[in-house]
Amino acid sequence: MKKIPKSHPRYESLMTREKIVKGVELGITSQHGLIAQGRGEAFDYLIKERTTEKAKKKIKKAAKLLLKAKYPVISVNGNVAVLAPKEVIGLSKLIPAKLEVNIFHKSKEREERIKEWLIKYGAKEVLMPEKPLIKFIEHNRRFCNPEGIAKADVVFVPLEDGDRCKALIKMKKKVITVDLNPMSRTAKAATVTIVDNITRALPLLIEEIKKLK
Ligand code: ATP
Repeated sequence: MKKIPKSHPRYESLMTREKIVKGVELGITSQHGLIAQGRGEAFDYLIKERTTEKAKKKIKKAAKLLLKAKYPVISVNGNVAVLAPKEVIGLSKLIPAKLEVNIFHKSKEREERIKEWLIKYGAKEVLMPEKPLIKFIEHNRRFCNPEGIAKADVVFVPLEDGDRCKALIKMKKKVITVDLNPMSRTAKAATVTIVDNITRALPLLIEEIKKLK
């Protein structure tokens, strides 16, 4: 990755871009992930790249919901895998919750690379999308794992696509998301929406869960 001096006023933002670009080069993140990141950044700029008080409240709500869940599952896509690998793994061990790979632009190779990447970062078990068990959607995102999302009562799906979020809600699951765009279909449909950057929200969520535990 390119070296960016810590003194640079946009250090965090530039590092995040570097991670996403690296993710594409490694075949973990899709090229479309670059665009999604750009959309997120625009909204982050508007909230001054800080976690708002409202987001902090939602993080508390999400922490409670995840700890109360009978069968929580964390869904990981290519952007989340490169932006916060340690954090999603840490979160899964802490709750505890299963980790499942789930990407929008289906590719067996990319799914495998995400799994390997998470294992490299310390994940013990990573579930893969295997069967078309998500109802109400037609495209290839209906695939999920029978022991993962299919069975979950609470699904944590950061940076999610609106159709799938709505489908999970229709399947009577509680959905928690992190999405910088408060107007996205996901942000509007989820049970708990944390409008914040995943890179800031996840460490705060982990802290909150530790406090509650
Ligand atoms: P929807 O289908 O829910 O209306 P969309 O089509 O705009 O959403 P996708 O490309 O499916 O969005 O998902 C990306 C979402 O994640 C966008 O809403 C974007 O703002 C948000 N996002 C991108 N990067 C980040 C990030 N680093 N942290 C939090 N949210 C992000």
